[in-house]
Amino acid sequence: MIPSSLISKKRDGNNLSKEEISWLISSFLEGKVSDAQMASFLMTIFYQGMNDDELFSLVETMVKSGSTLKFNNSKDFIADKHSTGGIGDKISLILVPILASLNIKIPMIAGRALAFTGGTIDKLESIPGYKAAQSLKNLKKLVHENNCAIIAQSNEICPADKKLYKLRDLTGTIPSNPLICSSIMSKKISEGINSLVLDIKVGNGAFIKNLKDGETLALLMKKIGNYFNLKTEIVFSSMDQPLGNYAGLSCEIHESMNVLSDNGPNDLLDLTYKLGSKILIQAKKVDNYDEAKQLQKSVLKNGKALKKFEDMIQNQGGDLDKFIKKRKPHFEKNILAKNDGIVKNFNTEKIGWSLVELGCGYKYKNSILDYSAGIQFLKKIGDSVRKGEVIYRIFNSNEKKLDIASKHLKNTFALHNKKSNFRLILNEL
Ligand code: URA
Repeated sequence: MIPSSLISKKRDGNNLSKEEISWLISSFLEGKVSDAQMASFLMTIFYQGMNDDELFSLVETMVKSGSTLKFNNSKDFIADKHSTGGIGDKISLILVPILASLNIKIPMIAGRALAFTGGTIDKLESIPGYKAAQSLKNLKKLVHENNCAIIAQSNEICPADKKLYKLRDLTGTIPSNPLICSSIMSKKISEGINSLVLDIKVGNGAFIKNLKDGETLALLMKKIGNYFNLKTEIVFSSMDQPLGNYAGLSCEIHESMNVLSDNGPNDLLDLTYKLGSKILIQAKKVDNYDEAKQLQKSVLKNGKALKKFEDMIQNQGGDLDKFIKKRKPHFEKNILAKNDGIVKNFNTEKIGWSLVELGCGYKYKNSILDYSAGIQFLKKIGDSVRKGEVIYRIFNSNEKKLDIASKHLKNTFALHNKKSNFRLILNEL
């Protein structure tokens, strides 16, 4: 087969066969298909889409590019959660230890920053020593011993997603339904789980800007779940403002640990309980949402969820004592309100790009992250603000980047003098 002829075939609106898709992806992994050819192929998918057969073939090829986990004890309930990406979205860092402390096994394969959205793996790597790259054998051991682990794609597990993910991040080819679906579902199918809950982010800080498009994506995800025999439930949540009070790298680990110490903001708790309830009900630990919420609250109160998190970090080589001493930003700046008013809205995507400027994401192929970087959100939609009050506190360890980000952030919020409402959980499927 000839790569450029397959790219042209797809570019001109024709469908590719399973063999053609499989050959292109395998050849890319072997280095025979170049980054430039694959970037061009990704862009044709972005514009032309894929039919169901093509999509199933892509997912299957991506799963088969590496090994799949198999858990032998049929009594274990093995589950996972994944989000389509947002700003300040640290729910995985909170939900994984909560569920693991309730005896659900979670072998999570997570991602790095994509475009303007944050990456769970990057946040975890702000903890000195944390090893996101784990062998399949070790992942199984970690989950067997502590019920949970959070790892990155590797040459052994989901190598195709690892390589495509990075290329998509650098080439503006992320917000494409077949590419999002295949990326997420190939990771989750490879985990050998029984149940999955997806948090589809919708809004001006998400790849999916409105609920109608979110529903189209959700149906596609469910279709893939059915085809590969993975029960998939969906929650749609708003990304019209950042989630929680912080976005960035080490600051999100701190905020997650505060939530796990039963001291978290309501939006993080509400979404955690909602997503967690889907898995706890499926695992037959509880019968309904209220019971699921109480159960999750109980492990935040009795310290079990925090202990699970600390054990998970330690088992993966992370040193939380060093982390607490080491990740202090050298510079900070406040962004102030110019008038009195009530916060009407945020330009959340622009906030996400400002985080990339600060050092929390990959502007270039070899960008080095600044683990001390982030933003504290002191006001959210509906809050009253006085002229001169702080809206954002931004921080990092590179003054030049801090200045650039602060300029971007100045026009990312609007005030008015009416009541404003914000709804976090938009729908479920
Ligand atoms: N998360 C992923 O793992 N992949 C995507 O494409 C988007 C969010």
